[in-house]
Amino acid sequence: MIHEHQLRTITQNNNGYIAYCDGCKKYNIAYKNSLLVFTELELDAFKQLLENRIGIYSFSTTHGKELFLKTPLSNLFILFTEVELEELIDMISKVNFLLNAHVRANSNPN
Ligand SMILES: [Zn+2]
Repeated sequence: MIHEHQLRTITQNNNGYIAYCDGCKKYNIAYKNSLLVFTELELDAFKQLLENRIGIYSFSTTHGKELFLKTPLSNLFILFTEVELEELIDMISKVNFLLNAHVRANSNPN
């Protein structure tokens, strides 16, 4: 069976987007040249990880990308500037806000 991704964009800006795939039931976080695919629980965990800087380390270079995030692959890291890290957290916060608003709207008996 061929799976076609049905992405619904939730938020986007010049650096990327977050979309939900109704087929996979997963979120696609496209930011700069990275694409991360998460369930809702994984998205929440990822946001907490970014906010609390868990697994994020200083990486001092002359190139401005001063934070690095470890991945499950021992030879792959994701680099961020402080501004990029904050922007990514803001994008995920927008998704959380819209999801919560949606849940509230659907649970309102009136
Ligand atoms: Zn899909």
